[in-house]
Amino acid sequence: MMDNPYRYLPSVDRLLQLVPNTTVSHERLVALCRAALDEARATISEGLTAPTEDDLIRQVERMLHEAHQISLRPVINATGVIIHTNLGRTPLSDAALAAMHAVSVGYSNLEYDLDAGQRGKRDTHVEAIITEITGAEAALVVNNNAAAVYLTLSGLALGKEVVISRGELVEIGGGFRIPDVMRQSGSQLVEVGTTNRTRIRDYTNAITPDTAALMRIHSSNFKMIGFTESVTLAELVELAHQRNLMVFDDLGSGTLIDTARFGLDHEPTITESIQAGVDVVTFSGDKLLGGPQAGIIVGKQAAIDRLKHHPMARALRPDKLCISALTTTLRHYRDGEALERIPVWLMIATPLAEIEARALRWQAVVGGEVVPADSMVGGGSLPGNALPSKALALHVDNPDKLATQLREQMPPIIVRIQDGRVLLDPRTVLPEQDSTVIDHLRRVLCV
Ligand SMILES: *Cc1c(COP(=O)(O)O)cnc(C)c1O
Repeated sequence: MMDNPYRYLPSVDRLLQLVPNTTVSHERLVALCRAALDEARATISEGLTAPTEDDLIRQVERMLHEAHQISLRPVINATGVIIHTNLGRTPLSDAALAAMHAVSVGYSNLEYDLDAGQRGKRDTHVEAIITEITGAEAALVVNNNAAAVYLTLSGLALGKEVVISRGELVEIGGGFRIPDVMRQSGSQLVEVGTTNRTRIRDYTNAITPDTAALMRIHSSNFKMIGFTESVTLAELVELAHQRNLMVFDDLGSGTLIDTARFGLDHEPTITESIQAGVDVVTFSGDKLLGGPQAGIIVGKQAAIDRLKHHPMARALRPDKLCISALTTTLRHYRDGEALERIPVWLMIATPLAEIEARALRWQAVVGGEVVPADSMVGGGSLPGNALPSKALALHVDNPDKLATQLREQMPPIIVRIQDGRVLLDPRTVLPEQDSTVIDHLRRVLCV
C-alpha cells in the first residue's frame, strides 16, 4: 500500500523548534514556516518528491534571509558582458567608492565655498578635472547621457532645426529613441541622406534660416557594413562654422582610452571630438568611462554657460555621490592609472592566460570543460566586437534549470547559455568572488 507522503511533513510547531530564530518576530517566523509547509504540500500534490525536514529548514532560512534583503542587491556577473546595463553597467573603483562613502557618512562642502565661508557651487568640484583631461573649454554634469542630449537640444535649439543623418536616428535601448527625445526637447529634427549613405551636400542643402545645429549621433549599438558613406566630424564642423551654426556630437559611451589598443574597433574618443572643434559633446559616465551614472556635457564655454543657466539643469543635476565618484574616476585618467584601477578597463585588459587560469581553477573543483568564448564590452558600445576569452562550460541536461538555480543563490550568479551549455566567463567575475562562485557551483551541482 502507498504511503501517505503528507504524513511525514513536520507540524508547524516542530518546524518552529528546528529553525534557529535570531532575527524576526515569532509571528513572522510562524508565517514563514506555514508558507514553507504550504509549498511542500503543493510539491507533493504535483506528484514530486516530498522535501525532507532538512530541506524545509533550509527553505525557511532562505525565506528569512530574503526578508532581510532589499530588492536591489549585488549579483555576480559571469556573462562576460563587461558593461551590462541590466546588471548595473559597471563596478566602480575602490577609490570612487571610498570617496562616495566619505562625503555621505557625514556632511560635505557640496555647495559651500570653504575659502569664502559662504555658499558655493556644486558644479565646481568636477568641472576642472573634466576640462583638464578632455581639453574642453567648459563642462557640465547631469543625471545621465539621455538627460545630456535632452538638455543640449532644449537649451541650444529650442524651436529651431537640427540636421541629422537618417543613418544615425537610433534607438539606444529601453525605448530611448533620438527622434522622440528631439520632439520632447522642442527642437525640430531635419533628416538628411539615406539609411546607408549621407554626404556633406545633404547637410548643406538642408540648412535654412531656422537651423541651429548639425548633429552627429554615434551608432553605438549597431554596425553598418557594405555600401555606406558618412561625413567626417571635421567636414561637419567646417560646414557648420561657415554658416554660423553649432555642431552637437552625442558619443554615447565615449572613451578617453583608445579601444584599438585591445584589438577592438576604434571607439570615438572625447578628445577627438573636442579637437575637431565640436561645440557640444555628450557622453555617459557609466559606459567606457567606468564611473557612476552620469551624463557629461563638454564643449565651448558660451554653449555650456547657456546650458548651466537652463531651468532644466536644476532638475537634471547630479547628487554628491555621483560628483564624488565621477571626480575620483576621472582622476584615475589624469594620473595615468585608469587601466589598473577602473574595473571596466581592468576587465578589458585582463590577459587571456589569467582568465584561463581562473576557469581552470573552477573546473578543478566542479568539473566541466574550459572552452574558448567571447567576452563583450556591451553597454551599447563596440557592437560586433568580441574579446577572446575562456569560459567554464557545464554540459547539463537542462541548462535553463541550472541557470535558474544559480540565480537563486546568494548572491545570485548570472550566466550565459550558449549552444546548450551553461557558460561562466571569469572576465567579469571579480577575482575576490571566485570562492563564492565555486561554493555555489558545488552546492547546485552536488559535487
Ligand atoms: C547609451 C547612449 C545614450 C544614453 O546614455 P545613458 O547614460 O544611458 O542615459 C545616448 N546616446 C547614445 C548614442 C548612447 O549610446
